Amino acid sequence: MLTLRQLFLANNAQTTDFPLLLEFERAEGVYMYDTNGKAYIDLISGIGVSNLGHSNPVVINAIKEQLDKYMHLMVYGEYVQTPQVRFAEKLVSLLPDNLNSVYFVNSGTEAVEGALKLSKRYTGRSRIVACHNSYHGSTHGALSVMGNEEYKQAYRPLLPGIDFIRFNEPADLQTITQETACVIIETVQGEAGIRVPDKAYMMALRERCTQTGTLLIMDEIQAALGRTGKLFAFEHFDIVPDILMMAKALGGGMPVGAFISSNNIMGALKENPMLGHITTFGGHPVCCAAGLAALEVLLIDDLIAKVGAKESLFRQLLVHPSIREVRGKGLMLAVELESFAFNKKVIDRCIENGVVVDWFLHCSNSMRIAPPLIITEDEISKACGVILEAIEHFKP
Ligand code: PMP
Repeated sequence: MLTLRQLFLANNAQTTDFPLLLEFERAEGVYMYDTNGKAYIDLISGIGVSNLGHSNPVVINAIKEQLDKYMHLMVYGEYVQTPQVRFAEKLVSLLPDNLNSVYFVNSGTEAVEGALKLSKRYTGRSRIVACHNSYHGSTHGALSVMGNEEYKQAYRPLLPGIDFIRFNEPADLQTITQETACVIIETVQGEAGIRVPDKAYMMALRERCTQTGTLLIMDEIQAALGRTGKLFAFEHFDIVPDILMMAKALGGGMPVGAFISSNNIMGALKENPMLGHITTFGGHPVCCAAGLAALEVLLIDDLIAKVGAKESLFRQLLVHPSIREVRGKGLMLAVELESFAFNKKVIDRCIENGVVVDWFLHCSNSMRIAPPLIITEDEISKACGVILEAIEHFKP
């Protein structure tokens, strides 16, 4: 009889020739347990998803309660479904006034598609400005605005009319003109290896978009919901986007994404033609119930207030001659080492020793640190001990 691992390799589509092949049976809090009962600290939150840790009982309960009422009833946007309405109401109550219309979708990349389409419809323009080293997802529109040739060159032709600018480089803001429908930018760049822009740059970007009538789309698919130490990452910069995108942590472990704008801008999807974005499963009632419960736990447990101290502890502990830099904001951190080869060896040893970390798509010499926000000081110390031991083991 074939093992589960053999079946996985035979029947499940593979995305690389070297999948991690870890086999977990259950997960709780910051821990994942493999089939031998070995515990691993999840230091990446299954990338940026499990902000509350795994198996939060309040989220599980909300899912069960919704399951007993109904699952899918109708494509998005027709029926008044309590979980969608309550979740949108809560999100809007926490956002600035102009972000009062929530379009729920299924994933980050679908939120990107919706936001790009909306900006074209609302402005009547077609040019898009995006950043070098950006990551916005894997569908054709999102690939078109990805700032990394390696991952997209095989899929051309992609969307025309995309201008790339350097992230955090004020001089490049002149590329934004009255022909630009939107600028799409990660509030904190993730796959570039966690790059935090300057406040002055973000304010100049906002100003340039306002001047040229260009919509500012902020991708907080990885950074929102407390990860950087604020509920929304744009709050660090005293600016407000025209369209905000979230996914990942938004569903408390269930798949849901959203693009959020004003009623006025969002209205462009209703006319000429109507049904400007269609999704069958977007805003699935069970996912919205989970997302609302997760958001309430995040706020009631005041997890965000403790993110800064946890960041400091990581920075205090992760000191070693082979660590070039610890970059980032809150619990969205990158540990830069000298090369991919070294980083990969360190990562593999960390996993062997029960701490799951990985690297970044566009920055392979840096290690990702993005634990559940509930991680304790003891768990941070333990995880950093494992990382430092691995670095020491392989240091040149
Ligand atoms: N934007 C950013 C900043 C992301 O990090 C990701 C996922 N890594 C996406 C978009 C795409 O999200 P999804 O994988 O849910 O399509």
